[in-house]
Amino acid sequence: ESLDKGLEKTKDSFFGKLGKAIAGKSTVDDDVLDNLEEILVSSDVGVETTLKIIERIQARVARDKYLGTSELDRILREEIATLMTESNTVDLSEFEVPKDKKPYVIMVVGVNGVGKTTTIGKLSSQFKKKGNKVVLGAADTFRAAAVDQLKLWGERVGVPVISRGMNTDPSAVAYDAVKAGADENADIIIIDTAGRLHTKVNLMAELTKIKRVMQKVIPDAPHEVLLVLDGSTGQNAVIQAREFTKATDVTSLAITKLDGTAKGGVVIGISDEFKIPVKYIGVGEKVDDLQVFNKEEFVDSLFK
Ligand code: GDP
Repeated sequence: ESLDKGLEKTKDSFFGKLGKAIAGKSTVDDDVLDNLEEILVSSDVGVETTLKIIERIQARVARDKYLGTSELDRILREEIATLMTESNTVDLSEFEVPKDKKPYVIMVVGVNGVGKTTTIGKLSSQFKKKGNKVVLGAADTFRAAAVDQLKLWGERVGVPVISRGMNTDPSAVAYDAVKAGADENADIIIIDTAGRLHTKVNLMAELTKIKRVMQKVIPDAPHEVLLVLDGSTGQNAVIQAREFTKATDVTSLAITKLDGTAKGGVVIGISDEFKIPVKYIGVGEKVDDLQVFNKEEFVDSLFK
């Protein structure tokens, strides 16, 4: 329900237009496909993914010789969901840390302002509700505000935040946090990192160092590298995803701020292009507005 509400703007712009594209048409012809292409691109699905979707529908038209517009909705849902990477995510309320991966270390990366801190706060809250012991590491040492905000979330949720002074080496904070988490038998350790995209080489060097340092304590850490992207920035989010996936092995994605934007189609393009599971989506600023992502549910709610 909050998913439907969170995606309202995308839904309105996307599928409001879809109705117009097929108005007065009984079959899917070139005109309909042209309109559809325009709608998908303007919803930030991305050009390449849009072309794939159009080609798949063309192939079905060619195969079946005829496709009624009344069926376009269903076919479109199927083809979009097929293109998207499987998410395989467990509901957060059921998330159990694998016994051999305790403490489970999540390193969170992404550019400033995308909603990293908020996502960490929301995740901590949900993990904690499930009974997990959570420790946070404030390794974004370049912005005082980032550390303060993480501490605020820590207080609100009731989880410890490990931090050091401004401008200390982020890897030192990551080390402290992982050490503290391991010493205290934490279930989950979440490390916030600085989102500086100055140069690719620096980003890579910084993230590699953070990983290397935490591996001194937990050799297979991080178990997850979660890239947070701001969905409301549309194709900018795609560009950031390209930068970060070049700099480090990103294992999962969180796409935030899908409420209040008509650019939610970007989730489809990102899921297709990067073959990395979208695990979470942010549909608001409150604790419970971080949802576990399910591609079928997502696509369905766009068509409701
Ligand atoms: P960071 O710099 O990446 O750590 O970003 P923050 O977590 O500080 O978030 C930046 C702003 O985006 C804050 O005002 C958050 O409340 C807001 N924000 C984060 N996630 C969402 C979301 O899913 N929806 C909305 N509407 N706002 C969000």
